[in-house]
Amino acid sequence: MKYIGAHVSAQGGVENAPANAHAIGAKAFALFTKNQRQWLAPALTAKSIDAFKAACEQYGYAPDYILPHDSYLINLGHPEQEGLEKSRNSFIGEMQRCQALGLTRLNFHPGSHLKAIDLDTCLARIADSINIALDRTQGVTAVIENTAGQGSNVGYDFAHLAAIIDRVEDKSRVGVCIDTCHAYAAGYDLATDQGFAHTWQEFDRIVGFGYLRGMHLNDAKKGLGSRVDRHDSLGQGILGTRCFELLMQDPRFDNIPLILETPDETLWSQEIEWLYSLQR
Ligand SMILES: [Zn+2]
Ligand SMILES: [Zn+2]
Repeated sequence: MKYIGAHVSAQGGVENAPANAHAIGAKAFALFTKNQRQWLAPALTAKSIDAFKAACEQYGYAPDYILPHDSYLINLGHPEQEGLEKSRNSFIGEMQRCQALGLTRLNFHPGSHLKAIDLDTCLARIADSINIALDRTQGVTAVIENTAGQGSNVGYDFAHLAAIIDRVEDKSRVGVCIDTCHAYAAGYDLATDQGFAHTWQEFDRIVGFGYLRGMHLNDAKKGLGSRVDRHDSLGQGILGTRCFELLMQDPRFDNIPLILETPDETLWSQEIEWLYSLQR
C-alpha cells in the first residue's frame, strides 16, 4: 500500500500537524518538531506530546508513516569543532523530541564539507555524529536524505549514503530517504523509463532497498545534473509525470512515507489525489 502525504505545518504546536495532514487527504506526513531556523527549543510539554499522540490516533497515522525533518542549520559533517558540537547537540535534541513523540524516524540532510575538509573525512564525521546520536536515544532511526549536491553539500551520490551507512554501528537504526528532485538534480535520470530502471538498480546495488525508509516526491525546476535544489509542483517541472506514474506502480515504494515538499501547498490535496489515481 502507498502512504502519501506532505510536509505539513506544525504551527501552534506539533499536535496540530495530524489535522493538517488529514485535511489534504494524506495517509502520511512530515513535520518539523521545532522551529527549523533555531538551534535549540524548549522541551515538548507532556500536554503537547499527549495531544500529538491522540491526534495521530484519531486520524489514523501510525508512527512509521510520519517522517519528521530536522533543522536546516544542522551540519553533522561540519569541518570545525565548534560548529560540529553545536550541530551534534541540536541533532540529539531532535532525535529526543522524536522519541518523546513516539516516532520512529528522523529525516536529515547529511552535511557539508564547506570546502575545508575532504569528502571522505566529511562522510566519516557524519557517521560518527549518527553513532553518537543513536547511542543517546532509543527507537528512532536516523534517515539520511540524498541531496542535490548544491554548494559543498555531500550525499548527492548514492555511494556517499552507502559510505555513511557503512560506518554506522547500529545498522538497524540507519536508513535513507530519496528525494526525486534532489536525485534528478544530482544526475540520476528519473524522467525516462530506462533512466528510472537504471537509477533504482544502482540504488539497490550501492545502498540497498532494505535501507529505504521514505521518499520525498518533488518535481524539479532545474535540469538533470544541474546540482541546483529547486522543487516544483508535480507535473509542472522538468522531471515531468512519468517518474511518479512509475513510482506509484512499483511495489518497492510500498509501506513507507511518500512525502510532497512541493512549493504550492494549495495543490497538495490535488497532487495526492492524482498520485493515488496513477495506481493500477
Ligand atoms: Zn527532500
Ligand atoms: Zn530540496
